[in-house]
Amino acid sequence: MDVVLLGAPGAGKGTQATAVAREVGLLHLATGDMFRDVVARDTPLGREVRQYMERGELVPDELTIQMVVERLREPDAARGVLFDGFPRTVHQAVALDEHLERMGRLLEAAVYLRVREEVLLDRLSGRWTCQSCQATYHVLFQPPARPGRCDRCGGALYQRPDDQRETAVRRLKVYFEHTLPVLEYYRGRGVLREVNGERDIASVRADLLRAIRQRVPQV
Ligand code: AMP
Repeated sequence: MDVVLLGAPGAGKGTQATAVAREVGLLHLATGDMFRDVVARDTPLGREVRQYMERGELVPDELTIQMVVERLREPDAARGVLFDGFPRTVHQAVALDEHLERMGRLLEAAVYLRVREEVLLDRLSGRWTCQSCQATYHVLFQPPARPGRCDRCGGALYQRPDDQRETAVRRLKVYFEHTLPVLEYYRGRGVLREVNGERDIASVRADLLRAIRQRVPQV
């Protein structure tokens, strides 16, 4: 089984995806995290990717698709994947379908976390991320117990350069332009389910699991 989790930056994908993937027995694959690893390695590829990320733009499709396809070939991806932050363009969505089909697999559900734009902006511009485990906090809505430290692993918190307000505005613009058509693509395929992403974390998680299980009752 393969599932796509869709939603704008700030919709809560990162907050939910790890737990949801564990619950339904899938590998959690977040392209944003993969790109941040690439950038941290400071190779020529990392430097190229960093330029797109810091501007709040999408990394080109070919590069993104190649990275995902290579990851899909690894043994731990064989049991099925929860894609988080991918696909972000219709081109990526079509490529994903083609690659899964070639592997004898099928995308069974695309779940969209719906959150209004003004809420997204508030969330993004107050967001702090753990350097070690990528857990996210919010200065107002979900502050850590100790300022600047991750509750989960004790790692240092930082503000991602692409969460600064100006870049956040650009990321949302890019999202609405390129990624909303992906929703229509999945609606057309009959696999789209929508979940209200503005409720509390536990309710959103329960709704996400319900939406996946409606499409795939065996998980
Ligand atoms: P995220 O953590 O998912 O918000 O991703 C952070 C940044 O990584 C995005 O703003 C893009 O620059 C890049 N990125 C992540 N996933 C993709 C994707 N599927 N296609 C293109 N760029 C991506």
